[in-house]
Amino acid sequence: MSDVTAPAAKPKIERLPPLPPPETVYRRIRKRIHLICFLAFVAAPFTNLMRFDIPRQRFYFAGFELWISEFAIIFFAMMFLMFVIAASAIIHGRIYCSYACPQMIFSEWSQGVERWAKGLAQKRMKTARARSLLANGLFYAVLAVASVFLAFVFTSYFVEPRDLLGRLLHFDLVTVGGITGATVTLITFLDFTLVRQKFCTTICPYGYIQGMLQDQHTLLVSYQDGTGEAKDCIECKKCVRVCEMGIDIRTSPFQIECVHCGDCIDACEDVLRKVGKPGLIHYTWGELPKAATKHEPWYRRWGFRDAKRLVILLIMAFYLTGLGLALSLRRPVLVEINPDRSTLYKLLEDGRVANLIRLKLANRTGAATHVRLWVEGLPGADLALPANPILLQPGETFERTVELRAPYVPDGQDVHPIRILAQADAARKPDAEAMTFITPLKRK
Ligand code: SF4
Ligand code: SF4
Repeated sequence: MSDVTAPAAKPKIERLPPLPPPETVYRRIRKRIHLICFLAFVAAPFTNLMRFDIPRQRFYFAGFELWISEFAIIFFAMMFLMFVIAASAIIHGRIYCSYACPQMIFSEWSQGVERWAKGLAQKRMKTARARSLLANGLFYAVLAVASVFLAFVFTSYFVEPRDLLGRLLHFDLVTVGGITGATVTLITFLDFTLVRQKFCTTICPYGYIQGMLQDQHTLLVSYQDGTGEAKDCIECKKCVRVCEMGIDIRTSPFQIECVHCGDCIDACEDVLRKVGKPGLIHYTWGELPKAATKHEPWYRRWGFRDAKRLVILLIMAFYLTGLGLALSLRRPVLVEINPDRSTLYKLLEDGRVANLIRLKLANRTGAATHVRLWVEGLPGADLALPANPILLQPGETFERTVELRAPYVPDGQDVHPIRILAQADAARKPDAEAMTFITPLKRK
């Protein structure tokens, strides 16, 4: 007979009609943070706070316009942000999900719209059918308009917003941009009318990753009376009814579905306050009773009590240093100068010798700039450019193979070390490229 025991099944939760959470402590804090996050979400693509322009292959971050070729900066920034989120999950559990995630913000907002539409229909209509028609009509109409707006903002993270607006106003359903916008609108509408928080418990990989990152010191929502004992529950089940994730926090603080929103804390305090008792659900650091960690300073609560936290901190420091270095080495005007050795040298009709040079200049700034080029170590040398300095408009790239010409000097050398310099900004050190200029040993 096998001695392997099956894992204990999760207790079945008795489904009671859901209740809107009371608008008290944590709910109020969350709503304010939701508003700030919503404003940041809308503003980011329009102010270039963060945007990845796919057609133009540019990445905008904190006001910097980065080119796709500046991969190091993008890589270090992405890795640093990823580890910030991981560190936040280790310290604060799924706080991000309930306080800052757009999916949660818009899911709760759509539930609020649904409640508002039902309340209005209840007041205005006499029959059940009329109430249902008005409530559904209002709800779907508001969600349809909101979906167009949200899809527009979301797509603006990847396509220039003015270009996107033009497509929207022309009901463009033919081009890739138009089809993408329409598809995102439809997905947004279905998400916030049908899926909502189910996404957080079934599809979202981040929720599961956070579950793996949590440890015995992570912030939890625990059912206890503050001293660690669980008692005095009056079985009102309000904590269960307000929970949008459909769980009973009293069974365990380690449920993967729990997004640590605090709605059950507010609900329990709201109920027990009426009978003169403190709430039974609290935010706690690990399983320690709330009273044990209440007066600990934040750095002790967040503390580096285990190797995992220390390692994450070191990795974050590594990526932040890399990002700082990559940004400090960044040149506003990209200068690439390379010899083209498909031809060693050319003899020109006027008696001079020419070598071919591959030149690439790219203006990564938002203003027009002039780039001046000159040669050192080769008297009388010049570059066959259309103009010098070269005018580059914002975002413009000048890429060409040009002749570097110099008078022939019979000095018995065929290889002459030289430097080509390029300067975009008089205040900055010029970019210098060391190379060689090849001539024949004897003039034919
Ligand atoms: S159990 Fe409480 S904290 Fe966790 S998701 Fe439900 S309401 Fe939010
Ligand atoms: S809200 Fe508080 S008192 Fe009511 S069932 Fe939940 S834990 Fe018990």
